[in-house]
Amino acid sequence: MALDLFNTLSGRTEEFTPADGKTVRFYACGPTVYDYGHIGNFRTFVAVDVLRRYLRQSGFRLMHVMNITDVDDKIIRNANQRGIPIGDYTKKFEAAFLEDMKSLGIEQPEQLSRATEHIPEMADFIRKLAEKGAAYQAEDGSWYFRIDKFPEYGKLSKKDFAGMNIGGGGRMDADEYDKDDARDFALWKAPKDGEASWDTEIGPGRPGWHIECSTMAMKYLGETLDLHAGGEDLMFPHHENEIAQSESLTGKIFARHWMHVRFLLVEGQKMSKSLGNFYTLRDLVLMGHKPSSIRLLLTSVPYRKQLNFTFDGLLQAANSIERLRNFKLRLETGHWEEGENPAVVQMVSKAVSEMRSSLDDDLNTAQALAAIFDLVRDVNTAADRGEVKKNNIPALLDALNRFDEIFAVLVDEDAAHVKSIVDWAKAEGMEEKISPETLEIAKSAALSDAQVEVLVKEHSEARKAKDFKKSDAIRDQLLAQGVVLENTKDGVRWKRK
Ligand code: AMP
Ligand code: ZN
Repeated sequence: MALDLFNTLSGRTEEFTPADGKTVRFYACGPTVYDYGHIGNFRTFVAVDVLRRYLRQSGFRLMHVMNITDVDDKIIRNANQRGIPIGDYTKKFEAAFLEDMKSLGIEQPEQLSRATEHIPEMADFIRKLAEKGAAYQAEDGSWYFRIDKFPEYGKLSKKDFAGMNIGGGGRMDADEYDKDDARDFALWKAPKDGEASWDTEIGPGRPGWHIECSTMAMKYLGETLDLHAGGEDLMFPHHENEIAQSESLTGKIFARHWMHVRFLLVEGQKMSKSLGNFYTLRDLVLMGHKPSSIRLLLTSVPYRKQLNFTFDGLLQAANSIERLRNFKLRLETGHWEEGENPAVVQMVSKAVSEMRSSLDDDLNTAQALAAIFDLVRDVNTAADRGEVKKNNIPALLDALNRFDEIFAVLVDEDAAHVKSIVDWAKAEGMEEKISPETLEIAKSAALSDAQVEVLVKEHSEARKAKDFKKSDAIRDQLLAQGVVLENTKDGVRWKRK
């Protein structure tokens, strides 16, 4: 079995393997840290996270690089409006982004790289391109890439640029009037008054966005990457430009495989502030939704299919997680008869193999989820009939574990994440945006799992000793702190609200 992955570059689904057979060296375009991340951004980052988790489960090592774009026009504008250095402005949004990744169970790449920490390397890249005749400096000091020098331009997005050279006569940005060809793109922007600028071997100024990604990708991953990923909007011009710069420099293929994540819609429409359907992760959490539900919804549709984000869908995702977590609790806390039921063994191995073959099929997460939910349903039915035996349990828990290595929704860390978003909202003076549901979820953050276990044990012992006053008091105390106790025939189970 192998992972078949659609490759935008070839336009076909291909078996994906790293060039050295062991370590997947890949790059995913990261955030521009001028604002809080929205759920569209996170669809892409969650999709890349599913890829990385699945590659690891398949036995590969990972070298995953993601940039943080911490200098660009919007950042400069916003920082200037506030009268602070760009670093002070971006720091807060970078920290928020990394925290949001954690809330959503998105693993940190092996290497995070900030654009502002790689300026000399970018200048050096541009100088080398100039030496090859692929870059030139305009009168104002800006540098441009000479598209003429790269006949393969358009090979990723399959755009045909022949005959599109409109010379200096076409309509263009006022800043870019001295380009030789309208298609040429900026590598380096000459300094302007009051804008962040660096002194470098190619003169003062700041890097364009495209050169950042080429420079940092090749610095950490070498001249040819196994894979490069991003949202579908980046295919053109960003990724096309990355290819032109990198391949003009090295003469080698820049990335063997390109993965593009389809844009997310909200309630059937393009997400936009003017339509009032624009949501950051933090907005949704303050409305009372759990990060785990948001992650499950984002993974529930394969990355190349349109994902329509709806509030109904979010409630369904929350219910699905309840079902999964309850199932796991049932397995862990139930009293099972000795023995092993071969029919259940069969169910488990079928589910695991269906989950993997679905993911091998261009990361079909919808089918993989269906395989696990079928298992939950069938095993619950079997358990109700007393047909699940003690020796079936480890394999079942192992299947759930393999599922969660990819989907990462079973371990309940919502309370802690929601609590820190509540604290952030208070610090930002947005108390009125915090819903009662959000506060309810955040309540149990004060108690660790271990602390809950101790109280649950005391509660059970008090009940056994018929000290109901004490056992009830503990139950009420836990409830006040957001932990619910359930007395089942198999004993006491607990969960966070
Ligand atoms: P940005 O911070 O705007 O550079 O975007 C970070 C990542 O989010 C990029 O890979 C974008 O392609 C991706 N992205 C932005 N909007 C959406 C959306 N609505 N759906 C999916 N991905 C998106
Ligand atoms: Zn990029």
